Amino acid sequence: MANSRFEYVKQFETHDTLLPQTYIVVRIDGKKFHEFSKFYDFAKPNDERALKLMNACAKNVVLHYKTDMIVAFGESDEYSFILKKDTTLYRRRSEKLSTLFVSLFTSNYVALWPKFFPDTPLNHKYLPFFDSRCVVYPNIQIIKDYLSWRFVDTHINNLYNTAFWQLIQICGLTAQEAEKKLMGTFSNDKQEILFTECGINYNNEPEMYKKGSLITRKGEILHIDVIKQINELFVGFE
Ligand code: ATP
Ligand code: ATP
Ligand code: MG
Ligand code: MG
Ligand code: MG
Ligand code: MG
Repeated sequence: MANSRFEYVKQFETHDTLLPQTYIVVRIDGKKFHEFSKFYDFAKPNDERALKLMNACAKNVVLHYKTDMIVAFGESDEYSFILKKDTTLYRRRSEKLSTLFVSLFTSNYVALWPKFFPDTPLNHKYLPFFDSRCVVYPNIQIIKDYLSWRFVDTHINNLYNTAFWQLIQICGLTAQEAEKKLMGTFSNDKQEILFTECGINYNNEPEMYKKGSLITRKGEILHIDVIKQINELFVGFE
């Protein structure tokens, strides 16, 4: 194979080395999971089995790459893996990192599916697949803000989705009516609607739904207030 006259085609490959000494985030996200979740009849707004499956896959990715990892955070159909700023994994090649992380995650998702959905076999016409990207962040403050951004997103989405689905499931509203009722409301309005109209105290919702899932490099899965603990999470990784 080496030194054939065809070898020159290799020159067309471009490399994509990520900036040195910057925090790398690999974020994966399920492709069309809105449809996927309907097809497999996920509970709305939160299917506990599906979230636990995501966590189990992410945990295996974290443990596989634990020496390069700071922490991982997941919600819904996405996971972010935050790598140390001095990692030299795959010579910091973006394509290597994103493709290997996402294919390891996806193969775990398929392999572990029967453990979390024992009564629902995967249909070969509707298999799960995920996109992936690498983003670099230049300093500790911005990487903390990145994680805080995903955490706040979890809260905002979950509060909205919980109110939306409870108005439908408990109060019998149509999707349109529920959407209209929630339009322009702030967080405390939504909590108030949930309490007075649906009899639900948002504070009592499961921690995994409200806070997302954080995985330490040792593989512990936590559901904590990321913003309150943001500084502790990065001790030793500055
Ligand atoms: P894209 O391919 O652009 O990512 P998408 O349909 O996957 O499109 P997202 O914005 O990623 O859209 O949202 C994921 C959707 O998957 C959620 O809106 C929700 O409908 C569904 N979903 C993901 N996880 C769960 C879960 N654990 N329980 C219930 N629904 C879920
Ligand atoms: P890298 O992670 O850098 O790709 P690699 O071990 O996968 O490392 P490759 O250059 O991709 O190295 O080569 C793939 C290797 O996998 C082959 O050298 C061979 O040893 C093995 N292999 C792949 N397919 C087969 C096959 N069908 N039968 C036997 N061996 C195989
Ligand atoms: Mg997407
Ligand atoms: Mg998605
Ligand atoms: Mg998503
Ligand atoms: Mg190979």
